[in-house]
Amino acid sequence: MNIILFGPPGAGKGTQSDKIVKDFKLYKVSTGHLLREEIRNKTNLGSKIKPLIDKGLFVSDEVIDSLIEKILSNKKINNNLIFDGYPRNINQAKKLDFLINKYNQKILCVLNLDVDKNTIIKRIKGRQTCLKCGLIFNEYFNPPTDKNHPCGVNFLEKRSDDNDKTIINRYETYLNETKPILKFYNELNLLQHVNGTLKINEIYSEIRDIIASLETWHYRL
Ligand code: AMP
Repeated sequence: MNIILFGPPGAGKGTQSDKIVKDFKLYKVSTGHLLREEIRNKTNLGSKIKPLIDKGLFVSDEVIDSLIEKILSNKKINNNLIFDGYPRNINQAKKLDFLINKYNQKILCVLNLDVDKNTIIKRIKGRQTCLKCGLIFNEYFNPPTDKNHPCGVNFLEKRSDDNDKTIINRYETYLNETKPILKFYNELNLLQHVNGTLKINEIYSEIRDIIASLETWHYRL
């Protein structure tokens, strides 16, 4: 089964998808992470996309489509994916639908994290990611400690696109380009709403219940 985790930037998709990956043994596909790896590894693609990402603009659909096709065609992780931050516009959603059929896979559900703008801004401003283990923390809501983060503080990094101006641009882009996809998934009967303003473990508990009940239903068919 494949799952799409949907929601505005800063909704907690990264945090929740890490938990889902662990419990349901899925492989996480974060297009944002894959793109940041290109930048970190100083590839040609990385130097082309850095200015776009720093401004909160989208990378082209061609780049994203080819990253995704490589993943969907990989038999080792076949039908075991959780998408975080993808698809981001209606063309990407339609392309994903096409590729899912082409590679004989299925989408179990689209989990939409409902979060208001003020909460998002607070969450993004406090966000820290560990370069070593990849875990995501928040200096206000979920600070790293010796217990939950043995790597220590030295590997913690703030994202270059997590600044005031870019946050607003990314949110506007979400409203204009990404949010309309919800209608597409609603019509496909795949949409599930999750209250994303709760505490991390409460949100996860909602998500786990939804996935578990859909899985049971799915395997009974
Ligand atoms: P994220 O880590 O999901 O917040 O993504 C960080 C940035 O990477 C976004 O603001 C975009 O500039 C770019 N990006 C990530 N995923 C996509 C996508 N599916 N399509 C276009 N651009 C993307």
